[in-house]
Amino acid sequence: MDGQATLNERMVTVGSIILLGAPGAGKGTQAKKIAGHYSIPHISTGDLLRDHVARGSELGKKAKAIMERGDLVPDDLVLAMVEERLNRPDCSRGFIGDGFPRTVKQAEWLDQYLSGKVFENQRDRKLAPIVINIAVGYNQLMRRLTGRRSCPTCGRIYNVYSQPPSVDELCDVDGGKLETRRDDREEVIAERLKAYEAQTRPLTEYYRARGQYFEIDGDQTPDAVSAEVTKIIDGHRL
Ligand code: AMP
Repeated sequence: MDGQATLNERMVTVGSIILLGAPGAGKGTQAKKIAGHYSIPHISTGDLLRDHVARGSELGKKAKAIMERGDLVPDDLVLAMVEERLNRPDCSRGFIGDGFPRTVKQAEWLDQYLSGKVFENQRDRKLAPIVINIAVGYNQLMRRLTGRRSCPTCGRIYNVYSQPPSVDELCDVDGGKLETRRDDREEVIAERLKAYEAQTRPLTEYYRARGQYFEIDGDQTPDAVSAEVTKIIDGHRL
């Protein structure tokens, strides 16, 4: 592929892509790759909330304790934050949602939001998001979550078992000291998985009933998963 074709391919209108899956399924890793491939923003409500907590904003103060015990932040707070983010001009060709929506109420809100949205150069009015569920078994999820480390400076994600950095505990990119997320401790992980089962798993049925829903095996290499994700998006984008 020549440079121009690559550039054109990247400037296509994609619409809304939603990655579903339990904590640790690899949504963040995949969302970063897909966002780079199509040049659309990666909207991770977890990252946005962690940023609010780090800045000590009003929202951050309300969300901190809830996140630390592994519960979900109330819908009204998340939706106000997401609406502001989706209204920014960089979402004009589409966006990829990672960790959003996470409840049926959030999914209903998103449907409503999208019904009033027109993406740039949209070919038709197909507005339902492309929903891709990354399925991973319980033991593998635990391994991924307990082994996950991230660089506080550049955000790159590692796993001490499957994708360790070249030098123990240091980021390959900028040498930053890798951190374990506060909610990746075992007792909090159990709560997060419970919240997922109770509040997020029902979304699979919600979207399955609405058409553009796909399930892929997340127990593959990140590249194999992203090849499948890209194929689905190319076949169904706006
Ligand atoms: P994540 O990085 O997606 O695993 O999210 C980390 C934490 O942020 C979750 O355990 C929740 O406490 C909170 N959170 C992230 N996204 C949402 C959301 N869409 N709705 C409610 N809480 C969320």
